[in-house]
Amino acid sequence: MSDSCAFCGSIEPLTREHVFGDWLSKIGLDLTPVRHMAGPLNGLPRHMGEQPPFRQTVKRFCASCNNGWMSRLEHVAQRVLAPLVLGEAGRIHPDDQGAIAMWAQKTALTAMLMSSNEQRERGYGLPQAMYTALYERRDRVEPLDASQFWIGRYEGTTRSAVRVTPMAVRVSRIPEPDRPHAYALTLVLGQLILHGLTFDTLAPAVEVANVSRMPQLWPKGAPVLWPRGQTVTEESFLRFADGKTLRSTLDVVDVQPWTPAAQVPRSVVVNGMVRVPALCEMHSIHYPISLLEDALQGIFYAFVTSCDCPVAYLMHTGSDSVNCKAAGASEGISATYADIPGDEMLIRHPAGAFFCKRLTA
Ligand SMILES: [Zn+2]
Ligand SMILES: [Zn+2]
Ligand SMILES: [Zn+2]
Repeated sequence: MSDSCAFCGSIEPLTREHVFGDWLSKIGLDLTPVRHMAGPLNGLPRHMGEQPPFRQTVKRFCASCNNGWMSRLEHVAQRVLAPLVLGEAGRIHPDDQGAIAMWAQKTALTAMLMSSNEQRERGYGLPQAMYTALYERRDRVEPLDASQFWIGRYEGTTRSAVRVTPMAVRVSRIPEPDRPHAYALTLVLGQLILHGLTFDTLAPAVEVANVSRMPQLWPKGAPVLWPRGQTVTEESFLRFADGKTLRSTLDVVDVQPWTPAAQVPRSVVVNGMVRVPALCEMHSIHYPISLLEDALQGIFYAFVTSCDCPVAYLMHTGSDSVNCKAAGASEGISATYADIPGDEMLIRHPAGAFFCKRLTA
């Protein structure tokens, strides 16, 4: 499966491509390493470490997609978006609006390929049908049917982010669907933010309005002036990305994050520590972000922590998650931890010291 081109299905040799087009690293944007995140539909933030932004790559496309329609979209995006990414006021001509919306969709689909196979098996990815459908309309240079996009201004230290939130159309008292109806896609690039809603081909699409008063990019209309509407900040980003400024234009219908996805406990990063809900579901536990970064490289740790119940937990980091291996009284948990082979390590972080043991395979 993962040996074929994610878009056209070709089994030609796969080529490596940047999640964000190469042009983004060449337009004079500040490339100081920053912590940046990409990918999470929900669940753990997949931290990409402290490398310069716009450097992540995925190897999932054949050369003819990569050098053909995908590359043509990057050219339009570079010409139209580069000034806005750098904060220069500008406008987007209606003739370019389809290509920019399609480029945003292509970029979100590409970024989602960074999630692990394990995550995708659990449904944390965009449906394959969206990749195929986008490929099939490559010559129309338009986003998928039943898509709306808006474009606005972002202000914050994050220089690149992609976030996808599964959404559902709700009519009062009708039960939640067993799969999302739509996906809210959000891209941050320098000072630019692109936000879109795309309905699944099989789902009932509804029209939505964006109460942030950001100009609509797609369906195309008048030339789009940038920047206009509310600025999205680091504080408002998550709410915005979860579609909280989108309202159905129909009275009895609402568009909301799909609950099964929304209920997956979200971990957040606070002062260099990842905070995840404890098993008791009343408290949280914390561990240094460096453990998550190591986990992405295949290096895993065991550590003991506790919540205010008080309950002690033996935790292991894994490629996608941090797993609770045992919970109970502190003495028993400590004894189990002590039996794990290997030396204890000390990790210093802004809030103090953290002890863990590296797990050997
Ligand atoms: Zn291809
Ligand atoms: Zn590239
Ligand atoms: Zn607790």
